[in-house]
Amino acid sequence: MLTSAPKAVLSFIYEALPSRVVFGAGALDTVAEEVAKLSASRALVLCTPEQRSVGADIVLRLGALSAGVFDGARMHVPVEVAEAARERARRVQADCCVAIGGGSTTGLAKAIALTSGLPVLAIPTTYAGSEMTPIWGLTEGGLKKTGRDPRVLPRTVIYDPALTLSLPVALSVTSGINAIAHCVEALYSKDANPIISLIAEEGIRALTDGLPKVAKQPQNMDARSRTLYGAWLGGVSLGAVGMALHHKLCHTLGGTFNLPHAETHTVVLPHAVAYNAPAAPEAMDRVARALGADSAATGLYDLAASLGAPVSLEALGMRGEQIDQAADLAVQNPYYNPRPVTREGVRELLENAFHGRRPER
Ligand code: NAD
Repeated sequence: MLTSAPKAVLSFIYEALPSRVVFGAGALDTVAEEVAKLSASRALVLCTPEQRSVGADIVLRLGALSAGVFDGARMHVPVEVAEAARERARRVQADCCVAIGGGSTTGLAKAIALTSGLPVLAIPTTYAGSEMTPIWGLTEGGLKKTGRDPRVLPRTVIYDPALTLSLPVALSVTSGINAIAHCVEALYSKDANPIISLIAEEGIRALTDGLPKVAKQPQNMDARSRTLYGAWLGGVSLGAVGMALHHKLCHTLGGTFNLPHAETHTVVLPHAVAYNAPAAPEAMDRVARALGADSAATGLYDLAASLGAPVSLEALGMRGEQIDQAADLAVQNPYYNPRPVTREGVRELLENAFHGRRPER
């Protein structure tokens, strides 16, 4: 008789998301070729009003493959903006969207894809990572709804570090730490798996190496490449596995108090990590190792502080009396977190983040 197999210590589900990535300085030169590879010939280009000139440059590069530009992308994808962009796509009979910009612009392309199924080609110019995820978000009446749908995952992503040279240092730093946050929470995700953990750890390493160089020399292409590479890995991590307390808290703070996205991630991350550290020791060892620090929480705090990033929620415009409201909201809907989420614990976390205190360990 066969004896039963020993209990597996390693058990996971890994699902690869299908997307094509073209990475490198000058990769933007392939944009027309990449649109054609999607079998598309009427590409609607999307951008923010601030990035109108890069949108116009894409239209020029696409030539006959362009169906014009919609330059009204806005933070958090308000539904009225999504509706206007969908209407434009219908009117010009677009057969694909080319989104050039940060998470807000990619988010607008996803809103179009969600209802039309049009393929998206994303050209990220920040480190937010949305281009690698099937996650969409729409804001209506001040409330942000998010969901997952394979239709919104960009089919092709062109990463050209030359496009990030214009990203101001302050936004580069906070956007890069936003990418580190995706990697950190992937390491203690309920869906954590060995492939994504390798990717996430490497992402933290690349960003920890690249960001200080970007802060010192924003025009250095090697530093920009290394950082964008880390941001890609952050996006892969975010797209593949579920996030936890840190992302939920930032979502609440951003949505309820209108705090800026990347800066809020930067301030909250060391405190969310300090909260979760006792419950996720292996993940914390990997974070600390990738940061080259003794501890994950203090290493993240010191990285942000050394790069001149904000370290307190107060500096982002939050008011002290909002801490209790934020703590109430954070425990309203239960979700997975390695350490149980209690109101008292979250309140203390928020109090520390509000004042910008360095975690104790
Ligand atoms: P953003 O897209 O709002 O861009 C911020 C500003 O920077 C804009 O004015 C933009 O025009 C400008 N900008 C972008 N790149 C630039 C460059 N290279 N040079 C100069 N200016 C530049 O900011 P973000 O942090 O990239 O995205 C934040 C949004 O993305 C949030 O709404 C967030 O919720 C969403 N997001 C979604 C996902 C997802 O998976 N769905 C992931 C990450 C972020």
